[in-house]
This record gives sequence, structure tokens and C-alpha cells, in this order.
Amino acid sequence: MGRNEKELKSVIDLKSVVSDTSENLNICKQYCGTCPSLPFSPNPYLFCARGCSSGNVEKKGCNCPGCPIYKNYRLGSLYFCETGKAEERRD
Ligand code: SF4
Repeated sequence: MGRNEKELKSVIDLKSVVSDTSENLNICKQYCGTCPSLPFSPNPYLFCARGCSSGNVEKKGCNCPGCPIYKNYRLGSLYFCETGKAEERRD
């Protein structure tokens, strides 16, 4: 692998930040599972790792900033259910 490819790979690695694990899913259920903006049950859960909601999002508040995953991965925006997978903050 050449230097440019390595640099590109490190950027891609940085961008896929939240792991889609059963442990993270269970944490998410405690937060997205009570979110006022999502239908219940919200699918596919773990929006910061899996992408957008399959149901309608009506913005009435976002529980993500209170979630340990949000803090652990230093996420920086809201409504991953609407915007899709999270990107890590680099500051
Ligand atoms: S940050 Fe939001 S979408 Fe991601 S696991 Fe936590 S509650 Fe779910």
C-alpha cells in the first residue's frame, strides 16, 4: 500500500467511528428508546452507527448528548436518526 493509500485509509477509519455492537445497541435503546422525536420502536436504533431512521423523525428533542456512546466517541451533532452515521470530532 502506497503512502497516499495509507493516508486515505486513516481518514476513512476516522470517519467510521461508532461500532455496531450488541453492547452499543443496548446502550442506545436506553436513549433512543425514549426519544420524543422518534416513533416507537425506533428502527434500526444505533443511528450514529447504522444510519437514518426508517420512520418519520419529528424534531422534539434529541437524547443523544446524554448517551455514553456520544461522550465516548466524542460525537458532535444531533439527530443521527435524520442525518445518518456520525463522524468523530477532530478537535
Ligand atoms: S448517540 Fe444517539 S444514536 Fe448513538 S447510540 Fe447514543 S442515543 Fe443512539
